[in-house]
Amino acid sequence: MTCFRIPTGILGGTFNPIHIGHLRSAEEIREAEGLSEIWFLPSAIPPHKDNIGVSFYHRLNMVRLSVEQCPFFSVLDIEGARRGPSFSIDTLKHLVAEFGDRRDFYFILGSDAFWGFKTWKDYVLFPEYAKLVIMLRDESGMSDLMGFAQSIWTDYRPSAQYPFRLVSRHFNEIIFHKVTNLAISSTKIRALCSNKRSIRFLVTDRVDEYISSNRLYSD
Ligand code: ATP
Repeated sequence: MTCFRIPTGILGGTFNPIHIGHLRSAEEIREAEGLSEIWFLPSAIPPHKDNIGVSFYHRLNMVRLSVEQCPFFSVLDIEGARRGPSFSIDTLKHLVAEFGDRRDFYFILGSDAFWGFKTWKDYVLFPEYAKLVIMLRDESGMSDLMGFAQSIWTDYRPSAQYPFRLVSRHFNEIIFHKVTNLAISSTKIRALCSNKRSIRFLVTDRVDEYISSNRLYSD
């Protein structure tokens, strides 16, 4: 008997702050892959970023404010409860142990993050636990990115059925998706705030208000 598992996306990030680039690309992946839900996971202590300045509490609140009106999106605060750096592989193993009997996980990340993937803890293990979904903002980089993935997982081959997918006989597929190129980053938003410039339409209205009322990023 085959058992239906709820296809569930996981989008981790520092979300310092969360912006519409994160939200729109998550929505496009949800639709393209037919995901029932996407779980946003703010990182408490991101291993790859120094001096992030804004607390987990504020970053989590901003994600909550951004997703609470979307029926498909929710936020998980589990990385806040763990000590030490928030390694994604540990979170993924935890989620699979807890929900793996009823959910299929899709671990989503941007191509910029994926290019640095070899610095992530136990990066080779990810496809054992989840499908990997890599979001590209420029399709011209597709073949380089697929080649990079095959340099890590040497037994993966392009799918005969679907373009932009790598498959292996043993583990989960690796999927590459073009998403709308919204050239927005949290870095840019922090810079705008510290220069007292508007961030309207780059983040949700509620996040814009939250940043102002908590005087975040204004130095
Ligand atoms: P920073 O500018 O502080 O480095 P960021 O904007 O890249 O932050 P993160 O929280 O580090 O935001 O990103 C979380 C995930 O979202 C990463 O996988 C990243 O590649 C992806 N991402 C970030 N910005 C965009 C965007 N504009 N469109 C699509 N994906 C994005």
